[in-house]
Amino acid sequence: MIKLRESRMSEIPVYQNYINGEFQPHSASYIEVTNPANGELLSRVPNADTSEVEAAITAAKKAQKAWAAKPAIERAQYLHKIADKLRQNAEHLAAVITKEQGKVLSLATVEVNFTADYLDYMAGWARRIEGEIITSDRPGENIFMFRKPLGVVAGILPWNFPFFLIARKMAPALITGNTIVIKPSEETPNNCFEFTRLLDEVDLPAGVFNVVCGTGYGVGQALTSNSQIDMISFTGSVATGSAIMAAAAPNVTKLNLELGGKAPAIVLEDADLDLAVNAIKASRVINTGQVCNCAERIYVHTAVADKFIEKLSSAMAATRYGDPMKQSDLEMGPLINQASLDKVISMVSKAKSEGAQVITGGKVADIGPGFHYEPTVLAGCHSDMEIMQKEIFGPVLPVQVVASLEEAVELANASEYGLTSSVYTRDLRQAMRAIDLLDYGETYINRENFEAMQGFHAGTRKSGIGGADGKHGLYEYTRTHVAYVQN
Ligand code: NAD
Repeated sequence: MIKLRESRMSEIPVYQNYINGEFQPHSASYIEVTNPANGELLSRVPNADTSEVEAAITAAKKAQKAWAAKPAIERAQYLHKIADKLRQNAEHLAAVITKEQGKVLSLATVEVNFTADYLDYMAGWARRIEGEIITSDRPGENIFMFRKPLGVVAGILPWNFPFFLIARKMAPALITGNTIVIKPSEETPNNCFEFTRLLDEVDLPAGVFNVVCGTGYGVGQALTSNSQIDMISFTGSVATGSAIMAAAAPNVTKLNLELGGKAPAIVLEDADLDLAVNAIKASRVINTGQVCNCAERIYVHTAVADKFIEKLSSAMAATRYGDPMKQSDLEMGPLINQASLDKVISMVSKAKSEGAQVITGGKVADIGPGFHYEPTVLAGCHSDMEIMQKEIFGPVLPVQVVASLEEAVELANASEYGLTSSVYTRDLRQAMRAIDLLDYGETYINRENFEAMQGFHAGTRKSGIGGADGKHGLYEYTRTHVAYVQN
């Protein structure tokens, strides 16, 4: 839970905003950050005011032209140096992430190393950013299309993969010549400040990378409604994405929105059931089900439904969970906060009242402090239940039985979300047919998340606008400029 406090400077770390290449003194109110596994107070972070947001945007604007004028390969060197620092400090960074976010240490370590690899990967585009020369209708004319930076990017982050999301926004922004102002989630800002401490050691030019911490309605609104911001790159919920669109509208600011998901997992009659169970279970307990592209609902063919539900329930029931800083062999930690726990409790309770049967789990875990919920399987679900339509973001798997691939796809597509989907089958023709029919930005065959950094992570419908990763994600951070040159 976030509490705003004026005083109590103490033994716990107090972080500062990073503006124009320096950690800046902050005198307004602070936000207290706590450990979701046990309620321990971890840090105090600035709840910045509008003047701090404006100072960061001004610094980013001032730095942008000189940064863009550097050869891309020089900009790349900074990203490589930051990546090296992250790897050298992986153990410390993983512990910071785990303490404030609640994911298990092994996953936090993967997140840190993947973030370093992502910086290196995006830096690798330095010599590959290309424009085009287009054939003209006029004799003696050349048409050139240049790719240019947009200017200042606002990067607004969620709490579920807070560390990786810094890189997913800043790496493509910086390599293409933009500067950035990052707003971490107020739930998980510590890792962003630790990232910034390391970044500060590589002597990045002042103003290229800035961090301003605060609430969504404070710092978030001030950033997204500011006319000096040239692009808003946001990852988070549909409701916030929608509010950001409204805030950006008066300035017609470019948007890149990575929003929620309700990923359907379709298990067909010829699926390898053990493979399907292992993959779906892993995707649902990883990060305690708080992943935009983890299996959120299952459609299983009637011919294998009983066997599948039995195997899935055993696997979910066997999940090792608890406080990830106390036990090293866990698969799952707590949910992020009380509100998330309340949401899961309410959704399961509603599903039960609508006829779902709890096969395993179905209640708050009785393991002491923290926001722990039991790994849960619900059978007898049907498409008009809230639990089959709304994002749960917790370790709960609702299952609906279907008669065919076509029925499963129809139900899967009848969703306001369109981020990711998965299909389990041994028949390549069925897999290709499913890919053809599924209206989703991503489909996994015989596996679940994660996506590749060289792919393109993008959703349809309310799951977002634009996408991230790979060449297409990189070019989201550029604009075109066409020049007609008559000889
Ligand atoms: P959230 O929308 O509550 O908050 C995300 C960020 O937006 C936070 O930094 C918050 O302070 C800020 N914010 C809140 N209100 C704002 C406003 N009015 N203006 C500007 N900023 C504002 O989301 P969350 O709870 O942190 O993250 C969980 C959500 O993120 C889930 O829905 C999940 O599916 C989604 N997500 C999507 C992807 C993807 O790639 N599509 C990846 C990770 C998470």
